[in-house]
Amino acid sequence: MLKGINVVWFKRDLRHEDHVPLVEATRSGAVTPIYVVEPEYWKLPDASGRQWAFTAECLLDLQNSLNEIGLPLIVRTGDIVSILSDLHARFGVKSLFSHEETGNAWTFNRDKRVDHWSKTNHVTWFQYPQFGVVRKLKDRDGWASKWDTFMGLSPIMLPAELENGPDLNSDPIPSGIELGMASDPCPERQTGGRMEGLRVLSSFLQTRGQAYHKEMSSPNSAFDSCSRLSPYVAYGALSMREVVQATQTRVSEVRQKSRSESGTWRAALSAFAARLHWHCHFIQKLEDEPRFEYSNVHRGFDNIRDEKQTDEERLKAWTTGHTGYPFVDACMRALNQRGWLNFRMRAMLMSFASYQLWLHWRKTGLCLARKFTDYEPGIHWNQVQMQSGTTGINTVRIYNPVKQSHDQDPDGQFIRQWVPELKRVNEEFIHEPWTMTPMEQKMVGCVIGEDYPERIVEHIVAARFARTNIYDRKKSREFREEAKQINQKHGSRKKIRKNGPG
Ligand SMILES: Cc1cc2nc3c(=O)[nH]c(=O)nc-3n(C[C@H](O)[C@H](O)[C@H](O)COP(=O)(O)OP(=O)(O)OC[C@H]3O[C@@H](n4cnc5c(N)ncnc54)[C@H](O)[C@@H]3O)c2cc1C
Repeated sequence: MLKGINVVWFKRDLRHEDHVPLVEATRSGAVTPIYVVEPEYWKLPDASGRQWAFTAECLLDLQNSLNEIGLPLIVRTGDIVSILSDLHARFGVKSLFSHEETGNAWTFNRDKRVDHWSKTNHVTWFQYPQFGVVRKLKDRDGWASKWDTFMGLSPIMLPAELENGPDLNSDPIPSGIELGMASDPCPERQTGGRMEGLRVLSSFLQTRGQAYHKEMSSPNSAFDSCSRLSPYVAYGALSMREVVQATQTRVSEVRQKSRSESGTWRAALSAFAARLHWHCHFIQKLEDEPRFEYSNVHRGFDNIRDEKQTDEERLKAWTTGHTGYPFVDACMRALNQRGWLNFRMRAMLMSFASYQLWLHWRKTGLCLARKFTDYEPGIHWNQVQMQSGTTGINTVRIYNPVKQSHDQDPDGQFIRQWVPELKRVNEEFIHEPWTMTPMEQKMVGCVIGEDYPERIVEHIVAARFARTNIYDRKKSREFREEAKQINQKHGSRKKIRKNGPG
């Protein structure tokens, strides 16, 4: 009988490189790496088949790489506390090692149960930060320099000699169907796994990213010009630190070249590096206030939209890409098929749902969460609220879907790709096909109301209604007082604000 085992619990950190809990566990003796597939989690309304499929691919990759270094990963399906209890009864768990997780309410409560279990069983649970997110943070003063320090640390290496724990059987990695998940076809989803993540990182930093700052906003270019790293970072196939350090290395390389030789790389990498800060900045907000997943950041917006009574017809039109606004519909259909969309278009979809359609952000936010392969609760719920005007500290930005269409897809290429009903509509009408006469509609084979839907709302009137409602709430002195407090607690300080979000 072994004296006790050190369990490394893999969560959303599916790599063995730059993995502090794993290295620390090896320092304490034999190591048992486990991953628990949690069916209860995968049935939550923010979880989806595409997320699981991506996770399963990362898991397989991790299993192979851990096998290569002689530390087979034990995959178990079930409840983490029952699985730990079983291991404890059979071998005695000495210590548990994992990364800190800033997840949704379910993972937060599950971690509280694990904490209770470990305390009751006198098992020490060592948790290490995986991002530049600080647990039990008092306020944001000095946060940016803590982030720099964390990202600047050299990744610690695994020792050459590794001692494996007891020989344990691993469950097969289940399919989404076996987990009881709804079918979620996403034919052009990104492929999971660290190897793929490294390939994506390298192609971005060496070639694709050259015009990132100029091409990130249009969906015609963004699929290639954005890094596409988000799902690899969200499931930890790559660590944020290695992405930051690879970017810094590339910045140094570019700086050694003359201005003409380096072309647009300097500006592109600077814009990209700023966004790597934003990642942790947003997750920090949810870490500090988990209620942001459920309730308005600024309570002064409570009940402004009806959470209980959703207009199902509007929701369905929006989520399937049938609102009658070609650019909105094209973006939604692309997202449905690909599981990814660039920031500007995510913001427009959310803004359209929250302002023009006046739907409560919680339900539409859940729809988007399921569609995003890269779902990251801390970024997601804060962005959802920002684009719905409920934070009280950000500028209210109501996207005009027709203007966005002209700006980001001037000749309608993206629209025609994703809304084939409009493929014969010319540039003059592609952004507002309802302005065609009935004869013109017939000639291009797209009769509005028959082949392609009528506009679900008149966007200018709907936006005016939304703006009035939002600003009415902002007038009072109490509102401004609360906004000040929110800003004090969650607003970014100078260094990060210079580059971006509040
Ligand atoms: C309503 C809404 C919901 C969102 N939900 C998510 C989500 O669930 N998961 C997610 O990773 N991102 C989310 N974002 C932020 C952003 O759209 C994505 O991070 C980005 O599009 C991912 O693509 P990329 O990796 O190519 O990003 P790049 O533009 O190449 O940026 C590199 C990395 O920086 C970070 N980043 C970029 N933009 C932002 C931002 N605005 N806020 C915070 N971090 C950022 C991400 O980690 C990203 O991978 C959301 C944005 C909106 C408007």
